[in-house]
Amino acid sequence: MPRIGKDEVLVSIKAVGICGSDVHYYTTGRIGDFVVEKPLILGHECSGEIVEVGKNVEGLQLGDRVALEPGIPCRKCQYCKSGRYNLCPNVRFMATPPVDGAFVEYVAHPADFVFKLPEKTSYEEATLFEPLAVGLYSVVRAKVSFGGEILILGAGPIGLATLQAVVNIGGGRVTVADIYDFRLKKARELGADKVINPQQSDALDKLRSSFDYVFETAGSVVTTQQTVKLAKRGRKVILVGLPAQEAIEFNTNQIITKELDVLGIFRYANMYPKAVRLAEKGQVNLKTLISKKFPFPQTEEALKYARDNKESSIKTLVIFD
Ligand SMILES: [Zn+2]
Ligand SMILES: [Zn+2]
Repeated sequence: MPRIGKDEVLVSIKAVGICGSDVHYYTTGRIGDFVVEKPLILGHECSGEIVEVGKNVEGLQLGDRVALEPGIPCRKCQYCKSGRYNLCPNVRFMATPPVDGAFVEYVAHPADFVFKLPEKTSYEEATLFEPLAVGLYSVVRAKVSFGGEILILGAGPIGLATLQAVVNIGGGRVTVADIYDFRLKKARELGADKVINPQQSDALDKLRSSFDYVFETAGSVVTTQQTVKLAKRGRKVILVGLPAQEAIEFNTNQIITKELDVLGIFRYANMYPKAVRLAEKGQVNLKTLISKKFPFPQTEEALKYARDNKESSIKTLVIFD
């Protein structure tokens, strides 16, 4: 049982979403520079109930239903001070080696990274605040202007979260591409104007230089390479997905001659309040992203399921009694 500090709360974990990163660590033991060197508890997309409150904590009470923002920055460096705390070199991010994650019964967490759920948001839905925060951050950072042509490559949890962020705060016509029809159906349901399966047609190839904003959310080498071809001159490529290999071949001449702005997206900063607000207003559908649930003792089965069923699932959850 973790002990809480005076600015922390103790949370009884109720639901945890399985992230692509959890599956990567489970399967290969590493993502780029992040290497698992000793036993590590995975899971960072979590929600739960407050069971103990530190003595300095205001605004949170016993019994509150909450979501946990999983990255705690140092609060002192230049990035923290300028509001870009996602770039904090000393961040402690759950389930990123060597920091343990949320596949545990209880987590002690700083109260200012704990967010009360709207009344109608379930613990299960609240696990999706984390990928939604990524989607929101990418759209905010790209400064999507109203009426643009938007392409989202990949319709997994992050792609569909980016789609919902674009629909809510970006405006514009959205095309979504993915190799799984199941995922494209969800994209349609969530407001995509057009969907493309590049394995079934060459529609995407014909759309060279057609998009004002190209979001890459799949983290695959091929889609990352496609981005610069698909963007219009003078517009933006937003790289959200993290390819498993460190360096890939990229057409730099396209970036130069088209004068593209290429933006990297690493996690998010200050997005949980926005995610909570969108859920409160009923402007996002988080429930539709949940495909399968496993009880806590079957966490390993859940990881395997998430790894092996991408063609028929979006988000797999682990549920606590
Ligand atoms: Zn995640
Ligand atoms: Zn910092």
